[in-house]
Amino acid sequence: MSSAVQLQHVYKFYNQVPVVNNLSVEIHTGEIFGLLGPNGAGKSTTIRMLTTLTRPSQGQVTVFGYDVTRDQFQVKRRIGVVLQQISVDGDLTVWENLELHGRLHHLPQPHRQQQINRWLDYVELGDRRQDSVKTLSGGMKRRLQIARALLHQPQILFLDEPTVGLDPQTRRRLWEIIRDLKRLGMTILLTTHYMDEVEYLCDRIGILDNGQLIELGTLAELRHHHGEGLVMHQAHSDGSSGDGDHTQNRWDYQFFPTLDAAKQYLEQQSDKTGMLVRPTNLEDIFVELTGRNLD
Ligand code: ADP
Repeated sequence: MSSAVQLQHVYKFYNQVPVVNNLSVEIHTGEIFGLLGPNGAGKSTTIRMLTTLTRPSQGQVTVFGYDVTRDQFQVKRRIGVVLQQISVDGDLTVWENLELHGRLHHLPQPHRQQQINRWLDYVELGDRRQDSVKTLSGGMKRRLQIARALLHQPQILFLDEPTVGLDPQTRRRLWEIIRDLKRLGMTILLTTHYMDEVEYLCDRIGILDNGQLIELGTLAELRHHHGEGLVMHQAHSDGSSGDGDHTQNRWDYQFFPTLDAAKQYLEQQSDKTGMLVRPTNLEDIFVELTGRNLD
């Protein structure tokens, strides 16, 4: 399996604080890799280093063998980027946005028009080509961003929270596009806060916290590692624990190697009130590791 991206002992310091802290990870060609982490974990900074927008302070970052600091031009040719904050130009038409991007990448004619037509059709915006971008819905704009990112035929696509703020149906449509791009051979790195998105799309998951990689693997590996079965106990907090002076319910979680082991544990309890068994999911693991919820 060849590697698309390699980070080796990478640090990024802001004001002497390491916001990316000794990060080493490899992304394989052709996989969809999900980068998760609480807010402030260093996900965007990592993507910004990979896409040449900011330099690593220390360590080596390569994309298809090219160093992001020394070979920026080669890296830029091979990456497509859909960042949340970089939006398409609302005053231009759909076609003009792509034309501009194609020219910036020096795509010659007639190849440029072929690529524009190909990707506009691919994201189902062919009939909106003459429309001003500000008339498009959020989902259409996101699809246009993806078409633009694909125009110069990159080998890897970086998607920073690609479906945030979109309705469920539009998210599903984007998921299908992302899955289909993988079938076409694209390597994809995405960040997300949505567990269902990770479960549906990602071959492997990396969890960042405080700039460090605290977990890495497939969802099955993560579940195997942390325990596939969960017993939830509803605990009644009476305020004496310092939670405040009102009574409230909270859940305690106990992991078991298998779902059967969790069920067996429950069977053995004389009082099963407020107890529940279920398979472990990614959110449980995320909360266990980071102490925080995914959103
Ligand atoms: P995430 O994408 O996981 O939410 P970020 O990579 O955006 O995390 O941020 C990681 C940390 O780095 C945060 O504490 C953030 O405040 C800090 N940070 C990010 N960019 C800068 C910057 N340009 N200058 C100073 N601090 C920054």
